[in-house]
This record gives sequence, structure tokens and C-alpha cells, in this order.
Amino acid sequence: MMDLHCHLDLYKEPEKIISRAKDKGLYVLSITTTPSAWKGTCALTRNIPRFKTALGLHPQLAHKRKHELPLFDEYFDEAKYIGEIGLDGSKEYKAYMPEQLEVFKHILKKCASKPTKILSVHSRSAEKLVLDQIEDAGNIGKIILHWYTGSKSQLERAKNLGLWFSIGPAMTLSKNGQKIISYLPKDKILLETDGPFAKVNNKQLEPVDVDIVVTYLASEWQTSSEKVLNILSQNLKNLVQI
Ligand code: MN
Repeated sequence: MMDLHCHLDLYKEPEKIISRAKDKGLYVLSITTTPSAWKGTCALTRNIPRFKTALGLHPQLAHKRKHELPLFDEYFDEAKYIGEIGLDGSKEYKAYMPEQLEVFKHILKKCASKPTKILSVHSRSAEKLVLDQIEDAGNIGKIILHWYTGSKSQLERAKNLGLWFSIGPAMTLSKNGQKIISYLPKDKILLETDGPFAKVNNKQLEPVDVDIVVTYLASEWQTSSEKVLNILSQNLKNLVQI
């Protein structure tokens, strides 16, 4: 199984989280929030073949860290995965939208110059704006919308653009999350936890918790967990093949 969006470098004891995920044979995509975290985060899982690291500049940090864009460009060629990137239009970050757009556009332009990457994109309260940028950027690689929480109309737009969706345990526990999951194409669903930021019952999520989503999908699709795992494994294969 997989966790395609978690922040391994931000756990108190990443070694423990990594070893539990490794024991379960999980594929893990470790997402960074700043280019300056790239080297250290790569080093955490360097010798584990199923663990990959994504190079990012989180929209919530865009105003503080846009000076790291040259560093992003420097590491770009060595990164196969890009994230966390995107836009955040929620109350606390709306004021920084000009800086967020500057950073996001810069990164998408870079991706358009070499559209072979896989991107994990944050779109909270800015779904329309994110999709506008993605459309304008042309071919920029494969895009995963992480923890989508927007409207049905923007979701339809994302589906028509052929985007992927990573869903986590927290989504399966909210009414809105459940509704969104029911609209998603089965062949575009991937799993994530967004740990350690995301929590369930006040416990920080970690990669092994993707089990919660598998169980949920089995009940939602009225099938066995085994069949859900088959579908998701096939999705992962389709995502990573060029
Ligand atoms: Mn995240």
C-alpha cells in the first residue's frame, strides 16, 4: 500500500515512523515544505527503495520562503516528485496570495520545462485558482490533488483535466470528505495521511494508518479490502509509469 503525502521530516521520531512503514512494505512519498529541507529529508530514507522524497515550497510558507526559489531550481533536476506546492485561500493565508501565486507560477513554469514529474498539490479554499494555474501552465507532468475539500463543480473540472486525488483517513471521517470520495473516479484514487499535520482522535497520523482508508473504501464500494488494494496498486502503477 502507499502513503503519497506525509511529512516524514516533521515527526518527532521519524526513524520509528519510517521503520513501521517499511515493515509493512508501504510506498511512501515524503513531502517537503521548503527547498532547504530537501537534502535532510532525502537523507532520512536514502537507502529505502520504496521511499521517495518530493521537493516543495508550501503555499502557507510562500511569503516567508520565496527567497528559496533559486534553491528550488537548483534541486529541480534531481527531484522526480514535486510537492508540497499549490495555493491556500483560507483566512490566515489569503493576504499572501500574491506571494503564493508568484511561487506557484514559478514552480509550474519550471515543471512545464520538464514535464516528467509527479506533483502533489494543495488547493484549500483556492480550488478554482489552482485549476486556473494548472490549465494555463499546459503540460506540467502528473498532478495529484492532495486532500481536496472544494466544490463539486471544481472537482468535475479537475476530473476533466485528468488529475489524480490522494485521500486520507481524516477525509473518510467527515461528511464533506465522504461526499467528495463518492464523486471520485476509482481509477484516479491514491492514498495519503498528511501526517503529522493530520490527526484522527487526537493522534498524529502516520503512513501505516492508510489502512483506515482501505477499510472505508471497501465498505463504500461494497467490495473486499483485497479488491480495493488491487485497484489502488494498479492506480499507483499507472501513476508512476511514464
Ligand atoms: Mn501536507
